[in-house]
Amino acid sequence: MSIFNKGQQSIANKIEQDTNISKWKDWRWQLKHSIKSIEKFEHLTGIDFKGSERDELEKTFSKFPLSITPYYLSLINTDNYRYDPVFKQSFGGVEELTVHKSEFKDPLAEDKDSPVEGITHRYPDRVLFHVSNICSMYCRHCTRKRKVGDIDFIPSKEQLSKGIEYIKKTPAVRDVLLSGGDPLMLNDDHLDWLLGELRAIKHVEIIRIGTRMPVVLPYRITDELISVLKKHQPLWINTHFNHPREITSSSREALAMLADGGFPLGNQSVLLAEVNDCPRVMKALVHKLVQNRVRPYYMYQCDLSEGLSHFRTPVGKGIEIMESLIGHTTGFAVPTYVIDAPGGGGKIPVMPNYIISWSTNKVVLRNYEGVITTYREPESYESKFCDRNCEECNLELQLGDADEAASLGIEKLLSDEDDTISLIPGDNERYKKRD
Ligand SMILES: *Cc1c(COP(=O)(O)O)cnc(C)c1O
Ligand code: SF4
Repeated sequence: MSIFNKGQQSIANKIEQDTNISKWKDWRWQLKHSIKSIEKFEHLTGIDFKGSERDELEKTFSKFPLSITPYYLSLINTDNYRYDPVFKQSFGGVEELTVHKSEFKDPLAEDKDSPVEGITHRYPDRVLFHVSNICSMYCRHCTRKRKVGDIDFIPSKEQLSKGIEYIKKTPAVRDVLLSGGDPLMLNDDHLDWLLGELRAIKHVEIIRIGTRMPVVLPYRITDELISVLKKHQPLWINTHFNHPREITSSSREALAMLADGGFPLGNQSVLLAEVNDCPRVMKALVHKLVQNRVRPYYMYQCDLSEGLSHFRTPVGKGIEIMESLIGHTTGFAVPTYVIDAPGGGGKIPVMPNYIISWSTNKVVLRNYEGVITTYREPESYESKFCDRNCEECNLELQLGDADEAASLGIEKLLSDEDDTISLIPGDNERYKKRD
């Protein structure tokens, strides 16, 4: 397999005379030689930035640091770089300096939902655990710009212990999502320790790792890493490909190692203007993902983080992309399109509408081709009244020792065992007058 192509060879030799393939494929070598200045970028790509653009770029990178792995840099098409999806995600441009009124430092209020340092606990049964502050490549569209890269550091065991302690004393947490920064910036021993600590907590059923390494530094996926991860199953891994061009022979190899290691693989894409805001680009991406045993999981609407306005698309673009995927391609190649609610409401799925109308007897639906169909509701469906008195119910719900949370939100409105008839915003004027 020719992983070391001509472009890569030339970049490698500019970085260090006589770099061979084994150095290039050493993730520590890649990190050590990451591109963190405009000069180095210019030197390696032959692209020049001049005048006021250069000044503004300096300002941009002092606000949010530049860091590109030599590998990811080698994917840039230097002849047409201004329109290049890899360039846009890694080097970006001066548009980042523009901050709009509608944008926030922490649009998802992750810090407000943080009971202890490093943990965001938003959903009842799962937590986000920020275990690193750094990434091998700083995505220009990063939603966590406020944190990522501000001070480069990997939390010590002591710092991580606060998060571990919180999870330990919170039995409702059955799913721990390691995030960051990039968790795979931790070295193998540190990671082994952390996963071991989490695995030892009885109520933690699954652990997930969110990492962009297969995209920006596929050489991080080594045999040693796989054997460390294997010790801590069940472990799910989610990565972040945004464009089909990012799926290279090196990233394929990394994905194959992970899939062969037995980890279910998912992908989260962010919908980005002038990068992947096209139904055909997205379709090509999801097809390549499933060929590499990666299940498209989420497609995110770009968040309202500061300086991202040039990346944002209308929600309509996302719906258009979903319309072009659902029914048109393999069901499991279709991600769920979500808007992460500003202010911290969590992910909200959005879709084209398929239900056209409804009566007590029939549902009128349309399919992906525009064919309108009716589905007849059952004539004899005995509706069940459920007050959670399972003894008298003829369904066999044998939960064993499984924990169950009380019903919440709309689920609660639909339930029979709870008398709540409406959900009322706290500041509703009409209700305030009643009090
Ligand atoms: C996305 C996210 C999760 C995980 O959500 P899933 O829909 O289960 O993937 C958990 N906590 C926070 C704060 C999140 O943003
Ligand atoms: S890998 Fe994720 S956390 Fe790191 S810079 Fe990119 S988007 Fe941000």
